[in-house]
Amino acid sequence: MSKYGLLIDYEYCTGCHTCEVACKQEHNLQPGQWGIRVFEYIQKLPGGKLYITYIPFPTELCDLCQKRVEAGLAPSCVKHCMAACMKFGPIEELAKEMAKKPRTVLWAPK
Ligand code: SF4
Ligand code: SF4
Repeated sequence: MSKYGLLIDYEYCTGCHTCEVACKQEHNLQPGQWGIRVFEYIQKLPGGKLYITYIPFPTELCDLCQKRVEAGLAPSCVKHCMAACMKFGPIEELAKEMAKKPRTVLWAPK
């Protein structure tokens, strides 16, 4: 059976944090608990211009929205990401997409 995961195209992540909120609401997570966190990395480029990269990172509390998926729904973060830069699916399929697209991360729970 295929293992499932999330493919995150962080080139198009706007850092809106909606995935964090959607996950917290879906799982009723308490303060300090997160199923996904959005990290921000600021680089100074040659010439002095600042470049900000946002990278959403699922945590150990992410269960890939098992109940939603069993009901035929997309994981909550995937559904609510307004940049549509998150995808859920079998790792093998996501890896094929990843091979074609730079600035992506592929994540799977243990
Ligand atoms: S797949 Fe579900 S549990 Fe995992 S980060 Fe997204 S909303 Fe949270
Ligand atoms: S909801 Fe989408 S665009 Fe917003 S921070 Fe999360 S991954 Fe990035």
